[in-house]
Amino acid sequence: MKRAVFLDRDGTINVEKDYLYRIADFEFIAGVPEAIKILNRAGIMVIVVTNQSGVARGYYTEDDVEILHRHIASELERTGAYIDAWLFCPHHPSGRDSYALPCNCRKPLPGMLKEASRRYNIDLHNSAMIGDKRADIEAGLAAGCRTILVRTGYGREEEPHVSHQAIVFDDLLSAVKCIV
Ligand SMILES: [Zn+2]
Repeated sequence: MKRAVFLDRDGTINVEKDYLYRIADFEFIAGVPEAIKILNRAGIMVIVVTNQSGVARGYYTEDDVEILHRHIASELERTGAYIDAWLFCPHHPSGRDSYALPCNCRKPLPGMLKEASRRYNIDLHNSAMIGDKRADIEAGLAAGCRTILVRTGYGREEEPHVSHQAIVFDDLLSAVKCIV
């Protein structure tokens, strides 16, 4: 079975901006391409798991999300880094139409991590979830992963409220240097 690092996107990979979907607004947090490259070289799968309720709320479409992800992938390519898989939850309870369904993928539920585990044969107990919010930590714990909170994005505000089981680092690069 494979080992993976699950990465939250907004506030962990890129600078947090409300309901980001425009390529022009995308900005890496310093050190992130390097961090992902370290994981790639260590043979650890890198899987993005991101809540995108902006789809349910009608702010942007699933296509917009995928276009942005292709852009991030091409930016990472410049440094020789890559994401192995992208999963996102487009749902929200107060969203429009079918996006309002009760889903099991919106973090803090562990649906995306479990789906990735089934799809790619990942050993969740030997994997880690890294994010800037309590919902990331709870999803990771519910999936049986080790959990890391980063102090980028909302991380500093969230730090007092997350499980003591989470290890805390200033940013993704320092977390990755420690776990690899
Ligand atoms: Zn969902």
